Amino acid sequence: MSRAFFFDRDGIVNRRIVGDYVKKIEEFVFNDGFFELFKAVKGKGFLAILVTNQQGIGKGLMTEDDLEEIHRYMNDKLMGEVGYSFDAIYFCSDLDGTGSKRRKPETGMFEEAIERFGIDASSSWTIGDSVSDVKAGKSIGTQTILVGSHLQNELADYLFPSIADVKEFFDKNVN
Ligand SMILES: [Mg+2]
Repeated sequence: MSRAFFFDRDGIVNRRIVGDYVKKIEEFVFNDGFFELFKAVKGKGFLAILVTNQQGIGKGLMTEDDLEEIHRYMNDKLMGEVGYSFDAIYFCSDLDGTGSKRRKPETGMFEEAIERFGIDASSSWTIGDSVSDVKAGKSIGTQTILVGSHLQNELADYLFPSIADVKEFFDKNVN
């Protein structure tokens, strides 16, 4: 069985644009500390799986081709900077409120990855900046990390203000 790090994208890998979507490469800006965290995670042998809700596609604000271009840029940049890229990318273009089984907080994207790679959820982690990320990660049985200035944290196993704090925790506590 392999173990994985399930990464939310907007707000973790790149800066989230509040009230809008990253629709083109110029709008995709890596978060401070992400390269270092990603390198540490890959260096310990975890699969890096991206699981991202992208309802901007469902709303017709961008196309799947736009998203693929952004993700190609993201992975090329990661490979250049860190020497690793994501092992797999799962996105969900379904709109909120449509009963999608893939859109977080549902777990469809996670299940697809688990089946494909033979992942052991209990030795895996989910990291996100929204409660829906944590809900999905918990439902599927991973340990969970919430990042940001959430005032209360009833769900996640760990809450950190920044990506750099996650990296520090990871270095010290995950083998
Ligand atoms: Mg997010």
